Amino acid sequence: MAKKQFKAESKKLLDLMINSIYTNSEIFLRELISNASDALDKRYYLSLTDANHKVSKKDLTIRLEVDKENRTLVIEDTGIGMNKEEMETNLGTIAKSGSEEFKAQLEKATKNIDIIGQFGVGFYSAFMVGKKIVVDSKSSLSEEAYRWESQGIDGYQITKIDKDSIGTRITIYLKDDTEEKQYSDYLEEWKIKELVHKYSDYVRYPIQMEVTKQIPDPTDDTKTISTKELETLNSMIPLWKKNKNKISKEDYNEFYKSKFNDWVDPQKVIHYSVEGNLSYTALLFIPSETPYNFYNTDFESGLQLYSKGVFIMDKAKDLLPESYRFVTGLVDSEDLSLNISRELLQQDHQVKALASSLEKKIHNALEDMLKNEREEYEKFFDHFGLNLKYDLYKSYGMHQEQLKDLLLYKSSKENRYVTLKEYVEGMPKEQEKIYYACGSNLEEIAQLPALAKVKEKGYEILYLTDSVDEFAISMLNQYEGKPFQSITKGDLGLDSEEEKKAKEEQTEANKDLLTAMKDALKDEVKEVRISSRLLDAPVCLIAEDGLSLEMERILSHDPANAGVKATKILEINPNHPIFKALQKVYQEDPKQLEDYASVLLNQARLIEGLPIENPVEYTNKITELMIRNAN
Ligand code: ADP
Repeated sequence: MAKKQFKAESKKLLDLMINSIYTNSEIFLRELISNASDALDKRYYLSLTDANHKVSKKDLTIRLEVDKENRTLVIEDTGIGMNKEEMETNLGTIAKSGSEEFKAQLEKATKNIDIIGQFGVGFYSAFMVGKKIVVDSKSSLSEEAYRWESQGIDGYQITKIDKDSIGTRITIYLKDDTEEKQYSDYLEEWKIKELVHKYSDYVRYPIQMEVTKQIPDPTDDTKTISTKELETLNSMIPLWKKNKNKISKEDYNEFYKSKFNDWVDPQKVIHYSVEGNLSYTALLFIPSETPYNFYNTDFESGLQLYSKGVFIMDKAKDLLPESYRFVTGLVDSEDLSLNISRELLQQDHQVKALASSLEKKIHNALEDMLKNEREEYEKFFDHFGLNLKYDLYKSYGMHQEQLKDLLLYKSSKENRYVTLKEYVEGMPKEQEKIYYACGSNLEEIAQLPALAKVKEKGYEILYLTDSVDEFAISMLNQYEGKPFQSITKGDLGLDSEEEKKAKEEQTEANKDLLTAMKDALKDEVKEVRISSRLLDAPVCLIAEDGLSLEMERILSHDPANAGVKATKILEINPNHPIFKALQKVYQEDPKQLEDYASVLLNQARLIEGLPIENPVEYTNKITELMIRNAN
């Protein structure tokens, strides 16, 4: 039978595995047992929902066998099995390998073994300890059985075999021992016991192995004889059913890593039970890193759903609100029907009640973390805060009550995060608005000329750097009665009566100059006016109420929004020397004023991060002005 080649990414990953010197290679056993347990879950679920596939719970087991002579370790389960096509797709390529990120990460990963866990490629970890892997399997839903075998990189073979029992038997031919690594340890009873205990104790099916026992010799009671006996190595109590006081941090971490395909410990564990109309236990985790594809469409969120300890489905999406879709974990309820399908999930009122209860609990956990573990919360926010903001925006503000106090922003005060509550509490009495400024990064924002007046007043300014920020804030509209105010939009409301009057007089006195500049700039601005928000800078660009400059900048990335523009106003600092220069030019050579106006507008655009429409014309004008000045 011809050998088949692995898909390119799988090959690369295999290469990583085979040459891995990863110190933690022992986790291969946890991965294979976890796969076996999943397969048993599937078979049991099938048996409960389809009368043609009855199976007794006691026949659902995982068997481990060692053969020291041949250096093989076997992991056998009586689970759902795989047919030929499933072998091909599940073992010939890496599950979930379609994404471009995956390929890109793999390219970089030659030295970085972390990628292995990140993408959930459990089965392949067998190649960390095995030089050859043989998988015999018979599916519950097929009459035929097949063997998949591979010695690694040069491909795999699938052949038809005879196998009576349903399930999967994986044989690992261990690598030869080296100085660094004693692979033969995996043939030792003590080692296997240790690993099962450490990583797979909670598995809800018996993990059995033939162990050697010493019993009294019936013919001579001063002696013992050794016999073989089948022993169950795990306690089989699911972790979430155990008493919380009896569970160590380590237990949670190992459980999380083995079940939810992560390589690193979770940042936060949320474990609780609810008794009442709807009784359930939830064991939830917040990952300590952002999953590589979290902000892509191929990221699948959701919780595992169990009913009375029976696995029902993976990634039940309807249990989690969008805002908390970074949470993984499981829910086990006494009160759910076994026959609930993915389609019905959304309509089921029990499920709705469950989802809303989960939402509250997650919310409380986050609030609690913010209040009592600020540093941890900030870390969390760095990973998933963006998702909270997206949801605030996408839900049209409907979730604002839940979300508004979970938001963090950097600000002009110090280089640290503030909540909106902290911001408002820190406001001087006379301050009426919550000021914010937008830009692509903190350094850029800190230099915006329009910050000057607000800063001078001693008011804090929120620095918004994510593209969704201003959209999300516009959904909130206000916080505790204080409206949000962009520093580059509309009226900042900072002028005293005197200042207002002075500004009016200046405007009146320079009416013709301002009109001439506006005429020179045509439709690019709605108005040219005297500014009261600038201190040192000559000009700035602001937007009238409505679409902001930042929103225009973001929306313009999508060609569909080509015509969407903010209504712009060019503001001039009347106390800057440029103002005198403009007055002079207007008196002496009104034609030249057009060039001045155009250059100043483009400068203001650049500072705001907006493109200038004709860069060549702009630079030509500057050059001309330089030459004129030198003459
Ligand atoms: P993952 O478990 O993250 O999906 P794996 O590489 O460990 O990734 O396994 C790939 C797939 O192969 C599994 O999703 C499952 O469909 C199938 N598989 C692996 N081991 C078994 C098994 N013992 N019995 C049945 N199917 C299995």
